[in-house]
Amino acid sequence: MSPRTHRLGRTSAQRVVDALRAEPYVTRAELAQRTGLSRATVSALVRDLERDGLVCVVPASPGGGAASGTNGTGRRPETVRLTRRAGAVLGVDFGHAHVRVAVSDLAGRILSARSERADVDRGMENALRVARRLADVVREEAEVAPDEILACGAGVPGPVDRSTGRIGSTSLLPGWSGTTLSTALEERLGVPVAVDNDANLGALGEHVAGAARGVDDLIYVKISSGVGAGIISGGRLLQGSNGIAGELGHIAVVPNGVPCRCGGRGCLETVASGPAVRRQLLQSTGEELPGDDLLRALQGGDPRVTRLLADAGRALGRVLANASHLLDPDMIVLGGDPAFATEPVLAGLREELERHRLPGAGNEVRLAPAQLGSQGQVVGALRLAARSLDGLAPIVFPHHTNESQRERVQ
Ligand SMILES: [Zn+2]
Repeated sequence: MSPRTHRLGRTSAQRVVDALRAEPYVTRAELAQRTGLSRATVSALVRDLERDGLVCVVPASPGGGAASGTNGTGRRPETVRLTRRAGAVLGVDFGHAHVRVAVSDLAGRILSARSERADVDRGMENALRVARRLADVVREEAEVAPDEILACGAGVPGPVDRSTGRIGSTSLLPGWSGTTLSTALEERLGVPVAVDNDANLGALGEHVAGAARGVDDLIYVKISSGVGAGIISGGRLLQGSNGIAGELGHIAVVPNGVPCRCGGRGCLETVASGPAVRRQLLQSTGEELPGDDLLRALQGGDPRVTRLLADAGRALGRVLANASHLLDPDMIVLGGDPAFATEPVLAGLREELERHRLPGAGNEVRLAPAQLGSQGQVVGALRLAARSLDGLAPIVFPHHTNESQRERVQ
């Protein structure tokens, strides 16, 4: 049965599909709200799309998303999601030293994922080659044909100007500055590419599938070699005018402190990041700790590492207390190096958040370690890709669908 493409434009069915691309697992009532269509029309369209195999109806997952909880009858409400037949998307996560690629359906269910070490910082060419090769591998593993891929989302560890797609700041991602990643990756993959920075995608990932499901106001902080943050406010990712909203790592916390890679001095990441803690340990003890040994040293009960991480937690807490006064988040999610989601850091953070909390300011901010681990950015990239399809790629209806029937239900 070969599919036939109907260029329906923004018909009612397309509106339902677009809404499901933007947010999977929503109830029919929420779909009605989001599309402006009546409940009866949405129910008829969902039935239609279900018969075509493009959507399926599943129980709401416990604790997940806006549709969680019960609907007053004690039963969990049913949610609608797109199926594999409605297309697939690619997600690419460029880290400083790795490239990770995944393919998923439009509901974000990962079909295959691969990761490879690569010197991403030094230049874009090699990173793009690795991304292209891994994209072919995951596509073949998942048995997804090239023309079933509708879009790609990609994340980089540096600021991205959303209006031009250019990578900003020469100091944060040397070798990539001034290049337009979306265009370069589009040439390699042959599909539209949307790009954002890694912390924003981490926030999106945790928001749709991790610790912050159903939380519409959150700050996701990624602490690893630097400190970045993605902010979701009122359910939307905060971008800023230059793509640097959430660069908490470069907020000055120590007057005339040590020089930072951004050119400033005493930035948060000079006191609360993996390299900062290792530098302070070296200064105080003369002992060098290899790159990924912070968590192991902490678990081994090293009191110096425990103290330095608690200090880092307090420094993060002071910045996040100020950020909370600006943004009023419901939750702060800690991602990146797992050493920074441990009790010494959390205790320091809690202490400062509590100290600076406005009296009578309602519920205290919840603190949660990220749940998606190293997959967070790629999960966010897949969601970015699905969302970027809004109004771009018309749905492909199987040829047995009678279009005049579909039009009647509008
Ligand atoms: Zn800085």
